Amino acid sequence: MTELSIKQWHAKADALRIQSKMVIDGQFVGAASGRTFVSKSPVDGRFLADVACAGEEDVNRAVKVARAAYEDGRWSGRAPAERKLVLRQFADLIRANRDELALLETLDMGKSISDSTSIDVRAVSNCFDWYGEAIDKVYDEIAPTAKEAVAMITKEPLGVVAAVVPWNFPMLMASWKVAPALATGNSVILKPAEQSSLSAIRLAELALEAGIPPGVFNVVTGDGPEVGRALGLHMDVDGLFFTGSTQVGKYFMEYSAQSNLKRLGLELGGKSPNIILSSYRDTKHAATTSAHSAFFNQGEMCTCPSRLIVERSVHEEVVETLIEVAKSYTPGDPLDPTTNMGAMVDERHTGRVMEFVDQAKTDGADVVTGGARARQDTGGCYINPTIFDNATNDMRIAQEEIFGPMLTVIPVDSVDEAITTANDSCYGLASAVWTDDLTTAHKVSKGIRAGLVYVNCYDCDDLTVPFGGFKESGIGRDKSLHALDKYVELKTTWINVAGRD
Ligand code: NAD
Repeated sequence: MTELSIKQWHAKADALRIQSKMVIDGQFVGAASGRTFVSKSPVDGRFLADVACAGEEDVNRAVKVARAAYEDGRWSGRAPAERKLVLRQFADLIRANRDELALLETLDMGKSISDSTSIDVRAVSNCFDWYGEAIDKVYDEIAPTAKEAVAMITKEPLGVVAAVVPWNFPMLMASWKVAPALATGNSVILKPAEQSSLSAIRLAELALEAGIPPGVFNVVTGDGPEVGRALGLHMDVDGLFFTGSTQVGKYFMEYSAQSNLKRLGLELGGKSPNIILSSYRDTKHAATTSAHSAFFNQGEMCTCPSRLIVERSVHEEVVETLIEVAKSYTPGDPLDPTTNMGAMVDERHTGRVMEFVDQAKTDGADVVTGGARARQDTGGCYINPTIFDNATNDMRIAQEEIFGPMLTVIPVDSVDEAITTANDSCYGLASAVWTDDLTTAHKVSKGIRAGLVYVNCYDCDDLTVPFGGFKESGIGRDKSLHALDKYVELKTTWINVAGRD
């Protein structure tokens, strides 16, 4: 595919047709109340769309059509091999519409167009391909009972599944849920974050074009405390799969308890420790990779290695390298293909992230680079990459998820202190250790309480491995074949085959 210039991307952005109604039962519909909310771009403050702002009535309607679709078997009743063909066709359409989807993502939430095209859209199409391709290769089971019985263990779709997702990787987080949910035969209602609704709407439109029947994949847009809550409390939603903050994840547990005990999957926040030890052969490489991972996607990443725990003997060299890399990340026009750091999602979040700079100073950490907003003349939301050095793990910058381009460096004196510090967090999503000592690598990776441990790398990714966290980082896993289990019920059918004398 030929790559576009900044001028061409701007021309495409100006000509973009934005659909801002919801998709329910295969139709574009506004909210029953007629309400909308304004979607403004963090790139330059431009108006994007008046997006439908749903209420309980719209959620009820979406659940009703999703239930009807599930019950009549228009999708749930199809053979896995048929679902596979449609999901793969969907993946092809996502690839064919790469530029448009990438543009919607970039304009709506600010990430650079090069990331949207080469990472987000590519990963989303791969995800639908992967689960589509997998689903006719997964077998049910026969239990090893005595010969008087045949006990079948079969998987059935949950039924009506809701997915509530955040704004940092809007389509990708949605695809990690929607793809396995559709592959297993469920009907789905997707609720995107209010900051990033546009790509979800377009995805649902492409799904219809691919042949996913109306009513099977619906998108409802609106505020979390209204739409998300209504889905969480709905008595006819069988499973709710959420990616977002730990606080809201806890609300979903309450909603489930207060309603029908719907199944939950929770992918929540993180404050990932990244340990650089002196036993790693190339300190500069470890620090460089760590900084790239910390500033990727403007630091708006649940797995951001935002706590860098470093052995004191290599601390100085590590910080020098971090500063060097930070300076190579210049917030720029997200529509410029050479930009490596885009805009923050919106003004409110930018303000919240910036508060951590004063907090760091008050708590006694050193702000060694960054600490200021950038490109304010554009009307957009930008922050310079920031490094806090000489922090301690009890500071707010070490305990709270900042979700911005801010990296906290904590020097320690031993491997044991590094492990204790890494685990001193309510979160347990990702983590890393850099060492050439095999015994130490084993000790640290066993010692850290986190769903992901990287050894001598960071953020390596593949659909084949589960993704999710320990502790308050969540419950359950996205990705891999394990994710399929979340969207099915296990049924035991015990058949008595003992002969009658
Ligand atoms: P958020 O929790 O504020 O919102 C996420 C979704 O929940 C949105 O769709 C929002 O509308 C909805 N919501 C908000 N309040 C709600 C309520 N009271 N009831 C029901 N729904 C509600 O999170 P965010 O700011 O959009 O995203 C950032 C968070 O997401 C960070 O904490 C980040 O770590 C987390 N995240 C986790 C993963 C993971 O896989 N573990 C991946 C990406 C992001």
